[in-house]
Amino acid sequence: MEYYDIAETWSADQIREEQTKRLRATITQAGKAPFYAKILDEAGLCPGDITSPEDIRRLPFTSKDDLRAQYPDRLCCVPRAQLVRMHCSSGTTGSPVAVCYTQKDVDTWADLMARSMFATGIRREDTFQNMSGYGLFTGGLGIHYGAERLGCMTIPAGAGNTRRQIKLIKDFGVTAVHILPSYALHVAQQIEEEGEDPRELPLRIALVGAEPYTEETRRRIESMLDLKVYNSFGMSEMNGPGVGIECQEQSGLHIWEDAYILEIIDPETGRTLPDGETGELVMTTLTREGMPLLRYRTHDLTRIIPGDCACGRKHRRIDRILGRSDDMFILKGVNIYPMQIEQVLMGFPEVGHNYLIRLEKQGLLETLRVLVEIREEHFVEDMRVLRSLQESIARRLRDEILITPKVDLVQGGSLPRTEGKARRVEDLRDAPEGGN
Ligand code: AMP
Ligand code: ZN
Repeated sequence: MEYYDIAETWSADQIREEQTKRLRATITQAGKAPFYAKILDEAGLCPGDITSPEDIRRLPFTSKDDLRAQYPDRLCCVPRAQLVRMHCSSGTTGSPVAVCYTQKDVDTWADLMARSMFATGIRREDTFQNMSGYGLFTGGLGIHYGAERLGCMTIPAGAGNTRRQIKLIKDFGVTAVHILPSYALHVAQQIEEEGEDPRELPLRIALVGAEPYTEETRRRIESMLDLKVYNSFGMSEMNGPGVGIECQEQSGLHIWEDAYILEIIDPETGRTLPDGETGELVMTTLTREGMPLLRYRTHDLTRIIPGDCACGRKHRRIDRILGRSDDMFILKGVNIYPMQIEQVLMGFPEVGHNYLIRLEKQGLLETLRVLVEIREEHFVEDMRVLRSLQESIARRLRDEILITPKVDLVQGGSLPRTEGKARRVEDLRDAPEGGN
């Protein structure tokens, strides 16, 4: 295995040993914030009591609401003069969640990000373009610092302005990018629409993350742009990107366990689930001094993939994120995740890159409508062909989610597109007009 730093070569025992040590230090540090001082006191837990990473289970969870309640900086464990950066999580509802970093935090974050990029095969010789928004969003500066740390010439292209993005890629011979899945498909499509072949671009690797996407979407991006897509995972509360990455095996996201303790819990009972079972990801920081977090409930649903990765790294892997527990919607008593719908849609070659799930209510009846963009060359088909496509999409969706949706086929490019993370669900059930 070619590796970026020594922690990647640790055995499972070495990882646990280091986690135990770092957890002690983290608890000491976290106790400097009144919020955690109280929690530690109530649990009667002192750093010296920690003999294994599992001892973390003696503490209660930290929720997003706790973070909101401590906004802006009441969870900081160092004086303001030692802080050098802040970011916010990109939640669209509720009050913001802020994260503050010391210089050491920014440095360790850059190292984790550089290590993640290296694991996908990016090297200092690569020219790297970061095609996600900068500013408060951690996908900007977080990725940027990692790419620079690795030594790549880094182009801070930011989000949007697709023409300029494509020009920069061509002019500078960009070989690696960071991009959101929805935007990657859009860029490829725009190149095609301009009569060029997106496969001709010099790109060889794309880090794709920040929002859930399916294996079908990965394959689609890979084939449209002729590159390898590696899933990149993180969240502001845990620094930002660089928490987990797929290695070249593309078989799950290694979570860097020297920097984080990973737990999967049953979101209903809070009980720890065994490896292989799907539940909510809970994370603890192990290297952060500015704002350590203990047992943070991420709301992300996934599972630990049992067994070792063929790459040799012992940092355990999680499956691609199925969705967030707060993205799940319940229709007629059935729990549905947007990714189940995406998986079906992206299996149809006629389907374009964008879709929208609309929940409506007609009288007392709740209905599910899926608006699906169709590729230009298929949109011109005869009505009969389109109707039969519509029916087969509805049938496949019913097999997956047990509810028969209404399927509307719409022209490519007609659904709203966001510059940042895609919004997949529109819930009109409580709308005054009944959503009709
Ligand atoms: P932010 O608030 O911008 O830091 O967003 C963090 C959230 O984005 C995570 O908790 C996940 O829900 C989502 N996310 C980030 N990376 C991925 C990924 N690779 N796959 C699925 N969801 C992701
Ligand atoms: Zn691996």
